[in-house]
Order: sequence, then structure tokens, then C-alpha cells
Amino acid sequence: MGAGLAGAAAAWYLTRRGFSVEVYEQAQVVGGHVRTEWFRGIPYEPHGAHIFHTDHRTVWNLVSGVVEFVPYRHRVLTRLRGRLVSWPPQRADLCALPDFADIARELANLPGPTDESDFESYCVSVLGPTLYGECVRAYTEKQWGRHPSTLSAAVARGRVELRDDGCHDFFRDTYQGWPRRGYGDLVEALLRPSVVHLGCRITLEDLPEISQVGRPVIVTSALDDFLGEPGALQWRGVRLQPVYLPETALAQPAMVVNEPSASLAWTRSIETKWALPELHNRLGTLVLREYPGVRAKHYPVLDAADGNQRTQRELERRLRSQSRNPIYLAGRLATYSYINMDVAILHGLRAAERVAAQEEC
Ligand SMILES: Cc1cc2nc3c(=O)[nH]c(=O)nc-3n(C[C@H](O)[C@H](O)[C@H](O)COP(=O)(O)OP(=O)(O)OC[C@H]3O[C@@H](n4cnc5c(N)ncnc54)[C@H](O)[C@@H]3O)c2cc1C
Repeated sequence: MGAGLAGAAAAWYLTRRGFSVEVYEQAQVVGGHVRTEWFRGIPYEPHGAHIFHTDHRTVWNLVSGVVEFVPYRHRVLTRLRGRLVSWPPQRADLCALPDFADIARELANLPGPTDESDFESYCVSVLGPTLYGECVRAYTEKQWGRHPSTLSAAVARGRVELRDDGCHDFFRDTYQGWPRRGYGDLVEALLRPSVVHLGCRITLEDLPEISQVGRPVIVTSALDDFLGEPGALQWRGVRLQPVYLPETALAQPAMVVNEPSASLAWTRSIETKWALPELHNRLGTLVLREYPGVRAKHYPVLDAADGNQRTQRELERRLRSQSRNPIYLAGRLATYSYINMDVAILHGLRAAERVAAQEEC
């Protein structure tokens, strides 16, 4: 169920081992979150910027083996007091800020180990209160529509840091890039040997119609939907608003510019054209502003009280007890986890390995 990266990777693995695979996708296109569109030869991403980065050699060999990847090291800037500085922040860049004296004093007095109580406590223990207030608090309130102290520290872990090593790459992973013909090309390549049914939204009730009892089913859809209980889990969605600038080659100094100010409704602006250097001198570009708060399942809401995660575990338990098919969960929606593309692919591969092991024995 689902033709995003997790479902496509699972299908790829199983078809290579000679299994016949049927993929059911509710949308009229494959790709899920990672769809790339093109306008007058310029790429843009209607579900937000996606940069492929991984330390898993197997995943990198898989994706770069099925489609061509362009080397791309991602950079993010954030607007602070009218200036654009690298994100995550570098200590050296902070000297130019008018309240640097306060920031420096707070950084010198940081408690040491990070405070894992909740998102806000984590960030303050890494950045100090002033830098947190200027770079993260309002951005997070916009993005999640709730107070940062009600979010789990897991949302900040690995995403919020303070650097002093001069590394301006957003990601530190060994393998990084962008698929030359966009992510649709990658997902389609993985799905090529499978039978794909588009426009088919499947719930647990539909399984008897499309699969025999006991046949394995890999589910990458959200469990509240799959169990027919929309609203049981909280999700956060974003809307991307494109602007085409015909007379401009590149509109901003990096692919992503964060807007942490509470006075702007959007969180960041994205110019995907940065991923393809051969397009940089060509006139015409697209900038997309990302507005959070629409009804879409882009982000699971990992709350500090663990309420949504508990609901997820309960839905998993019910699914396993009610299903007449062995069920394997994979990907961001089905496991209600805030994972990157490489991990979604790994989920798909692992689910497929388990299916293959079950079917072959
Ligand atoms: C704004 C944003 C930016 C991101 N940026 C990055 C990044 O830079 N780098 C990175 O590595 N990761 C990034 N990610 C994460 C990445 O998008 C995901 O990890 C990955 O795409 C998840 O793939 P998936 O297959 O698990 O889920 P999805 O892509 O959501 O695929 C699930 C599929 O299942 C279908 N489906 C759902 N329910 C049903 C149903 N009942 N019946 C049939 N079909 C169904 C959906 O339509 C969808 O096609 C980002 C995510 C977001 C939201």
C-alpha cells in the first residue's frame, strides 16, 4: 500500500527476487512526499525541498544505481536581524549580531549535557535562550502550531546544533545528491517491474478483495487512515506557494532560506533550481514559500507527553490482531516517524526482506 519511497523500495527488492508485486496508490501519481514537478524546464517540489543524504552505502548504491544523481551539498541560510547567516549557526558568524555579548555569555554558561525533557529545553540547552528565541522559537510555533515545550526532544535531536567547525553544509552525510531528472524518475525506476494501481485508496476492509488470506501485505499508509479512523493521530501539513520569476536566474543565495520571524506566515522559501548547476545561468526561476498548517500528513506530531506515539502503538496492535494477512509496516506514515528518505528506503527494504524470508521458507 503506497507508492512513496518506502513502498517503491520494497517493490524493487521483491521484484528482483522474482516475486510478483502489486502496488496500490491512492494518488494519481507515484512518489508520495517526494514529487518533483517542472515548469519551463525548472524543477520545483510541491511537497517541500528534498535533498538526498545518507551514510548507508547500500541505500546510496541502490538509488544512484537506478537513476543518475548530481552531486549537491545542501546549504541553508536563516534570516537573523535582517542578515542571512548559515544554518545551523556557526559561532564565528554570531559576532556580527547586535546582542552578541548576551549570546556569548549564555553560550559560555550552557549546562553541558543536552536537556532531553522536551523540544524547547533541548534547544535552550544547545543554543542558550537568546539564540533559541531568535532562530527557533517562532519558527517552531509556525511550523507545528503549538508551543515548542509540548513537542518531544526527538524533533530537535540531530536537527538543532551550534557549530564552530566552519562546515556550512547542512548535512554531514557521506553521500549527498539530487536526482538529475527529479524524484519521480527515481520512484518510477524502482517501481518499473511492479504492477501499480493508481487512484486506489485501500483500507484494512479492502484487503479481502485484493489479496488472498495469508498473503503478505506491506503497508506504508498512515494507520489512522488504514484502519478507517481518520483523526486518531495528529499530523501537520505544509502548503507550498510558487512564484515564477521569468527575468531572474537565481533569486536567493541558497536553496533554502529560513524565516524565523513571527511576523511572516511562511517558514522558509525554497529554490530547487540550486540543485542543478547547469541551470544556474538560465533566466527563469521558481521560488516556493512554505506555509505550515494545512490538513496533510507531512509530519507526525511527536509530542512531549508521548500521546500520539501511544495511539500509534495501539493502532499497530489492533491492526495485527484484526488482519487476515501478515502485515509489515514501513515508512514515515505507517510507522508515524520523522524519518528521512534514506531511512524510508531502508524500512521498505527490511519489510521486503522479511516478506521474502517468509515466502521462501
Ligand atoms: C517538507 C518535507 C521536507 C523533507 N525533506 C527531506 C529531505 O530534504 N531529505 C530527506 O531525506 N527527507 C526529507 N523529508 C522526508 C521524506 O519526504 C520522507 O522520509 C519520505 O518521502 C517518506 O516516504 P514514504 O514512502 O515513507 O512516505 P510517503 O512519501 O508519504 O508515501 C506514502 C504513499 O502512500 C500513499 N497512501 C497513503 N495512504 C494510502 C492508502 N490508504 N491507500 C493507498 N495509498 C496510500 C500516499 O499517497 C503516498 O504516495 C521531508 C519531508 C517533508 C514533509
